[in-house]
Amino acid sequence: MLIRSSFAILVLLSALAPSQTTSPTEIDQVYPAAHELYLDIHRNPELSLHETQTAAKLASRLRSAGFDVTEHVGGTGIVALLKNGAGPTIMLRTELDALPVEENTGLPYASKVRVKNEAGAEVPVMHACGHDLHIAALVATAEVMARTRDRWHGTLMLIGQPGEEGFAGAKLMLDDGLFTRFPKPDVAVALHVSNAEPAGMVSITPGVYNTNADSLRITIYGRGGHGSAPQTTIDPIVIAARTVLALQTIVSREVKPGEMAVVTVGSLHAGTKDNIIPDHAEMSLTVRTRDQDVRKQILASIERITNAEAASAAAPREPTIERFYATDAVYNDPALAERMQVSLAAALGKGNVILAPPIQPSEDFSYFVAQGIPGFYFSLGGADPQKFAQAQHGGAALPSNHSPLFAPDVEPALRTGIAAEVAVLRSLMKR
Ligand code: ZN
Ligand code: ZN
Repeated sequence: MLIRSSFAILVLLSALAPSQTTSPTEIDQVYPAAHELYLDIHRNPELSLHETQTAAKLASRLRSAGFDVTEHVGGTGIVALLKNGAGPTIMLRTELDALPVEENTGLPYASKVRVKNEAGAEVPVMHACGHDLHIAALVATAEVMARTRDRWHGTLMLIGQPGEEGFAGAKLMLDDGLFTRFPKPDVAVALHVSNAEPAGMVSITPGVYNTNADSLRITIYGRGGHGSAPQTTIDPIVIAARTVLALQTIVSREVKPGEMAVVTVGSLHAGTKDNIIPDHAEMSLTVRTRDQDVRKQILASIERITNAEAASAAAPREPTIERFYATDAVYNDPALAERMQVSLAAALGKGNVILAPPIQPSEDFSYFVAQGIPGFYFSLGGADPQKFAQAQHGGAALPSNHSPLFAPDVEPALRTGIAAEVAVLRSLMKR
């Protein structure tokens, strides 16, 4: 007990050592340029895997800060290294991409960008997930770290990841040699802004942080014909409708109550006209779980139910079920999370660091952790503190990430993001 508690005191004292906290002056020095970069990136969002201008801006800033920058890693990804003697290699990630969402915040710096998507349709683009704030925070953090090399040692590895939305970018970077052409980090760090906490605060979730995500595409086959003569057809729309309803019973009737599970049919397409029965129907699903056994159970149930519904309608062939994307839940190494909680509390104030339960949205940061690298992924408060308090007391709910109204309270959120990243890096790379 004695050994344990004196160890705890040592950990606490070392985490509270002034060398690892950030001073407001340090942040003041980098803040104006970071805010300007935020506005620029926010006004000029780019869709997943097309982040060429965004990546170029990030690369140029990091080069100016003294980093050795490699571009086009896994498409538009960038890797920036700053070597500062022997010591650990620590990776900090930002995402680069925005979303096909029409901004409706009414802010003077709102995005008006429209581009053609992969299918050739014109779509609006908006940084509706806050990745613009992550980019600005990472650049400012890079500048603080570069200016204060006497306060840390090792190799700082900053990455700009393309295509986080759609979960392709982390794998693209890994496949392009992220951990073979560049050093394999000892710890991987990332943060994400949201309205779950007020600006000024961060939250930590030790262990499982979010959910496993599986994306499925299902094609149901029928026999087409004239809408007036259903007896000559096998209607895939009716089979699809029954399938969608039957799939709802997986979570409500098959999964043990209390287990986290979501089955959402997010798209359903069939047919072209009222008087034609089409020959197939397509739907896409997202499945979210925390437990691997529940995940397997649900995926098997989806297959069983989809096949059985088609068979019950005498469909001419079995449906095809394609699992076109899958990512594991992000896992926060519990001992690491505990250490970082102490460091963040020292930097931001004890009351500004809270423990939070896991969240539902998924993320491909888990691909880095799956390479055997302990991960620390934490949440950055983005909500205007006053609006947050009103929402807590029955006022209007705050928009979630991906909403056309998503707009973090930039200055306190960005300042806190920088202070938090610097504190985490200094703690992991202390001399
Ligand atoms: Zn997102
Ligand atoms: Zn995001």
